[in-house]
Order: sequence, then structure tokens, then C-alpha cells
Amino acid sequence: MVETSLNPFRIAQGQVRQACEALDLEPAVYEILKQPVRFLEVAIPVRMDDGSVRVFTGYRSQHNDAVGATKGGLRFHPKVTADEVRALSMWMTFKCAVLGLPFGGAKGGISCNPKELSEGELERLSRNYIHAISQLIGPEKDVPAPDVYTNPQIMAWMVDEFSRLREHNSFGLMTGKPLILGGSEGRGEATARGCVVTAAEAARRLGLELAGATVAVQGYGNAGSVAVRLIHQRGARVIAVSDSQGGIHRPEGIDPGILEEHKRRTASVRGLPGTREISNDELLTLPCDVLVPAALENQITGANAGRVKAKLVAEAANGPTTPEADEILHQKGVLVVPDILANAGGVTVSYFEWVQNLMSYYWTAEEVNQRLEQHMVKAFGAVWDLHREKNIKMRDAAFRVAVRRVADAMRVRGWLH
Ligand code: NAD
Repeated sequence: MVETSLNPFRIAQGQVRQACEALDLEPAVYEILKQPVRFLEVAIPVRMDDGSVRVFTGYRSQHNDAVGATKGGLRFHPKVTADEVRALSMWMTFKCAVLGLPFGGAKGGISCNPKELSEGELERLSRNYIHAISQLIGPEKDVPAPDVYTNPQIMAWMVDEFSRLREHNSFGLMTGKPLILGGSEGRGEATARGCVVTAAEAARRLGLELAGATVAVQGYGNAGSVAVRLIHQRGARVIAVSDSQGGIHRPEGIDPGILEEHKRRTASVRGLPGTREISNDELLTLPCDVLVPAALENQITGANAGRVKAKLVAEAANGPTTPEADEILHQKGVLVVPDILANAGGVTVSYFEWVQNLMSYYWTAEEVNQRLEQHMVKAFGAVWDLHREKNIKMRDAAFRVAVRRVADAMRVRGWLH
């Protein structure tokens, strides 16, 4: 079966249109929300270690700021495209709205392969990107954060560069920073922690406890590796994981500590003694209770959704399930906790980090984790109730909750008439 469109921007537009129609909102709502309010493409020259200059293409997309400053991560990946960044910025608007955070949505990216850059090249690329977009960003305007192949060190270089440009420290510019530069306790784990909280809420409602459940995790980065550890701590058995080089399977369960050490040593999950090598596609269709996609978009598609055997899919990644696959999973009775809810823990603790920066007063890890859990459980409950009340997919319910909030804000601001 051929998918109608795997363009994430078109997919995001379809999700918003559907929510606007279902809520019978003024036509202006969709007209405003169907694209980012601001989109910047920049050419970033970088002096390479061999003395040559290479020019990279970067983007920053600000989708909607009706409820507050825009917020969203930065992705460094060879396949970053303008439409991917647009889509990710739209999803950020609705993710913040599902959680009731006072942020709109944004996203940025640079088309590059960070694995091929030296540390010095990566630093110069990060600093020059901030130069190129500096007019658009700031603690009260637009607040970036880490995403695929970016990390706290990159955030630190960027904050430093911005602080130099503004001639004062501006720690509230970025979130996901190292602790010493105003980072928050718990931020590194927040996306996975939030995902595991929503998975536990969903599992309980399905009569399936996480303790004893079997779990497969696609992607072993920030979100995926922590999800493996946290879900194991809740008594689940992680039977498969993968990264960009492929996956591993062990039906008796994989020890997260041994796996972490193996990945640190070899830069891959593959080759872990006692495991069988599998492809990423095989991982998605293994017999298991819970599937956690934590890599990239368009992984569960019309081509493989029919073979997914999990009862519950908790989307740590953004956009891992295509609309066609979503429908197939729904028909099969697989419950999908959608990305804009399941992975919102990251932006929620980013919000806490920004609040702490503005106050210059810092919370303990316990305070952060407790507040995160409260926010996630509350948001999950609202989406679950609408899903049950209207007999609609969790994703449709999440978009309706979110789009209604953004529309309400735009209406009282006088943007709709
Ligand atoms: P990361 O760079 O830390 O990790 C990405 C992982 O995915 C790596 O292990 C990589 O090897 C793996 N990967 C790449 N291509 C793959 C493929 N084709 N198959 C299997 N694995 C593959 O990135 P991250 O921050 O963990 O982000 C992962 C997903 O979670 C993305 O969709 C991102 O947008 C989403 N997300 C991240 C955050 C956050 O706070 N970091 C927040 C919300 C959502």
C-alpha cells in the first residue's frame, strides 16, 4: 500500500484541519494555524579544521505565539528539511497546549551530519547558527532546546554566543543546558520520564500493568535510552532496542545497565552478547505489550502497521506513526498515546527550567519530577476522557484539547475577527 503523503508538514496540517472541523471553529483558526507565522532559512558558513569553508543550511520556524513565547528544539541531522522543521514547530504548539504550558511552538534544525564534525567544527556551527537567527530568539520571544543529535554542550555554546551578542548573560534563552549554566534537574530524563508516566496511565486503563509487561524501544538516544532504564525500573521487561545501525532482541529481557555500558563502549546497541540482531522494521513488529518509538518520523507506516503486535504504543518520538498507520492501529484496537502528549515531558521540564532561570531560584530533582508527573497525569486524564466520551482516537482527542486552547487564546486576543 502506498501512503498518500509522508510529508510531516502535510500530516500536521491534516491533523489541525481535522480538529478545527470537529470543533466547528471559525475558518480563521485553521487559516492561521495551517502554517508557521514566521520561518527563517539561513546559510551558515563554518571554517572547517582543514581551513576550508563549508556552508550549512539552517532553519528556525515559529508556528504560533498566541499563549506565550515560542518554544522548541534544535535538530542536527543530514535529513533535516524545511517542511520537517515546519511540522515539528506545529506539533510543539499543540504539545504545549495539551499540557497547558504558557508557550507556543517553534523548532529549528541544521542539515548536517554531526557524527562527521569535529568538536571545534560543531562548536563553530552552533555559534554561527545563533548569530544567524539571533534577531528571532530570546527568553521572551523564542526559546530553543535540544532535539535529535543536539545536547547540553551545544546549548551551552549557544547561550554563550547569544550572551556575548547581547552583552549580558541570558540563561533563559535556551533550555536543556548543563546544570552549571542554569539547567534544570531532571531535564535530561524528562522526555522519557513523561513518556513512561503516560504509558503507565494508559496501561492501567487497559488493565495491563507496566510491571511484568514486555517492551520494545526504537531509538536509543536521549529519549529512548532513558525510557529503557525508567520502564525497567517499573518492573517491565525490555526485550528489544535499536539505534540507527540496527536492533537487538532478547525475549528474556535486556539489562539496561549492561546495555548502557555497551553503547558507551561501542557507539552502538548492536553486538550486545546474548542478543539476536534484528532490523528496525522487525523491532516494530515483535510480539510485545508496549512499543516505544523514540527515533524519527514515519516509522510505523501503512506497510508495517498491520503487523504491529503491541497493545500499546507510546510515542516518545515526534511523528513516528503515519496517519494511515494510525488508522490501521486504531482498527486493530492498539492504543496509541500520541506524541504531543507522550513526549511532552521534555518541554514541560524545559518550561520549569525557563521559570527557574527567570527566578534565579532552583528546584530539587524531587520537586521537578513530582511537578512533571502531576502535569503529565492531568494532561493524560483530559485527553483520555475526551477519547472515551467521543469514542475517538487519543491523537484526535489530544489535538482537539490543544487546538481549542490555542483558538480560545486567539479569540480573546481579537485575532479571529
Ligand atoms: P537523540 O539524538 O538523542 O537520539 C536519537 C536516536 O535515534 C539515536 O539513538 C539514533 O541512533 C536513533 N536513530 C536514528 N535513526 C534511527 C532509525 N532509522 N531507526 C532507529 N533508530 C534510529 O534524539 P532524542 O532527543 O532522543 O529524540 C528522539 C525523538 O524524540 C525525536 O523524534 C525527537 O523529536 C523526540 N523528542 C525529543 C525530546 C528531547 O527532549 N530530546 C523531546 C520531545 C521529543
